[in-house]
Amino acid sequence: MSVSWALPFEQKIIPKKGASKLVDINTYKEIHSQTVKEYRNFWASVASELEWFKPWEKVLDDSNPPFYKWFVGGEINASYLAVDRHAKSWRKNKVAILWEGEPVDERGNPKEVRKLTYHDLYKEVNRVAYLLKEKYKLKKGDTIAIYLPMIPELPIFMLAAARLGVVFTVVFSGFSADALANRINDAEAKLVVTADGGWRRGKIVELKQIVDKALEKTPTVKDVIVVRRTGHKVNMMEGRDKYFDEVIKDIPQNVYVEPERLKSEDPLYILYTSGTTGKPKGIVHDIGGYETLLHATMRWVFDIRDDDIYWCTADIGWVTGHSYIVFGPLTEGATTVMYEGALDYPQPDRWVSIIERHSVTILYTSPTAIRTFMKFGEEWVKKHDTSTVRLIHSVGEPINPEAQDWMWKLVGREEIPFGSTWWMTETGGIMISHLPGLYLIPMKPGTNGMPIMGVEADVVNDDGKPSNLEDRGYLVIKNPWPGMPLTIYKDPERYVKVYWSKFPGMFYAGDYAVKDRDGYFWILGRADEVIKVSGHRLGTYELESALIEHPAVAEAAVVGVPDPVKGEVPYAFVVLRSGQTPSQQLTQEILKTVREKVGPIAVVDKVFFVSKLPKTRSGKIMRRVVKAVVTKAEVGDITTLEDEASVDEVKKAYEEFK
Ligand code: ATP
Ligand code: MG
Repeated sequence: MSVSWALPFEQKIIPKKGASKLVDINTYKEIHSQTVKEYRNFWASVASELEWFKPWEKVLDDSNPPFYKWFVGGEINASYLAVDRHAKSWRKNKVAILWEGEPVDERGNPKEVRKLTYHDLYKEVNRVAYLLKEKYKLKKGDTIAIYLPMIPELPIFMLAAARLGVVFTVVFSGFSADALANRINDAEAKLVVTADGGWRRGKIVELKQIVDKALEKTPTVKDVIVVRRTGHKVNMMEGRDKYFDEVIKDIPQNVYVEPERLKSEDPLYILYTSGTTGKPKGIVHDIGGYETLLHATMRWVFDIRDDDIYWCTADIGWVTGHSYIVFGPLTEGATTVMYEGALDYPQPDRWVSIIERHSVTILYTSPTAIRTFMKFGEEWVKKHDTSTVRLIHSVGEPINPEAQDWMWKLVGREEIPFGSTWWMTETGGIMISHLPGLYLIPMKPGTNGMPIMGVEADVVNDDGKPSNLEDRGYLVIKNPWPGMPLTIYKDPERYVKVYWSKFPGMFYAGDYAVKDRDGYFWILGRADEVIKVSGHRLGTYELESALIEHPAVAEAAVVGVPDPVKGEVPYAFVVLRSGQTPSQQLTQEILKTVREKVGPIAVVDKVFFVSKLPKTRSGKIMRRVVKAVVTKAEVGDITTLEDEASVDEVKKAYEEFK
């Protein structure tokens, strides 16, 4: 079936600022197809811009697909690339990590701001590496779990582990004891690094308590290091738990731990996916391929330069933070901003105040964050000077053109590049994006642009054949790329089954997409979140995007509910913007907007008003949870759920209606 809905915009935007190499679409496609044809040589030339201890012998070992190995024979170290190179160069006094804590003084300014130069970072990473190696006897191939709030010790421990070839798994500091225990056990971590607590929305997150509870069922953990952050009293188990300041204090300031010469295809970390659609998968990333992709995308997508103040608003607990707060920017010698707490606390303008305070030039954020900012209104944004920002990208979910437009006007001054980068935990780095730092094609709001150089992505139908232009299909990647997973940890069969079995020889992303007439990609959301109404297939995102276009609506989740006549009917759960109240009339207006935007078959059957939606901790709507509530099914794994009260809200709204 061809698409029943119009693509939200055919409008093209040519940024006036911050994009140096604008090209027309055909030129881009020509250059792109060359890099795809020659992808091995192409990626080899990118990889050669990194520093290798020993050059690779083979660019790609494809003898055992889909377990590909990149830059085989090469020796490399991610900690060396991110720290040593810059600390030994003119960048040594350049700020590497610019951090601010959550608590504010009476004037609303953060009480603590830490600026670690590359030299500082080098010293700290070496000392922690020494601690792990000499005192805790950790060695290459061992695994540790890191459960820290957003404080500089988090990247420091990641980089120290990477220096030794110790595989780390970062667990987002909002997760429950069960979620933490599952990840520790799956990864067989020997050591856990945590803090006494972390600050979030004026409260202490009791990290140590959660660790204590998790560790009741984690036989592999022998030691716990506790960073003092909040300073309140926590339980310390004799023999197992040590305060970080106490174990590190005797280690000299100038110790040097030689970075291990690791194989390119050695594992760097294990990271569990967000769990939006089901049980999280332990994705294992390599070093050489991963670093190559990050190096490329930091330049092409973010156009990173030495005078930039670069801020990715994600949490390091997600892949976005791994790749684009820690390893990507630091490998490029950039200044990367980190903050503790929330973007809208203590005031809705925390995020814009960070931009102003630190003169942020590049902003990488998410649709869920932008929709939250919109909910509070533009007055909060206008209180601050954001004119330093020269480039914006978004990630995590499809960006509805409404939200993109709002942000582009307010912060982007209608002149800078603003794209939506598509990728996932599995891909390691950005795969589909506009490339303002390389060759920029005219941008279209709501799209993801085109596959980056060297990556062959496509939209295919059920037979695995390319879909017609403007037809919805499945997003696939057709050639191996550096940064691809090594496997799912301890479950190679699941790796093959989930990603490589639907279409032989292609990586199946699980997302639903459209390629438009110009060849731009529109990633529409999960392929399994499709509603079939009277034989028509509607993506939940299309309906949600239309709902959000109504000025009273801040957020929406649509799910399909079985219906004896139509097969399925869409129900919408809606969060209103501040100052709006639910009413019959509003419901009618909202439904009218959807009909106008998506067409007559898109009849949303019911609208429910709630004050919050079930989301993952990374801010993605968990439609499967909403659906489970209305269909009275098993809710399933909700360890990654942000706030259990949101499920009760959905239940209540639904029950009241009945
Ligand atoms: P799980 O795989 O455990 O269900 P998850 O897919 O949410 O969780 P992530 O790897 O964090 O975990 O997210 C990747 C997904 O996010 C992609 O598959 C896609 O659905 C969505 N996504 C990311 N960026 C974009 C974007 N720019 N546009 C549209 N969708 C995006
Ligand atoms: Mg996924």
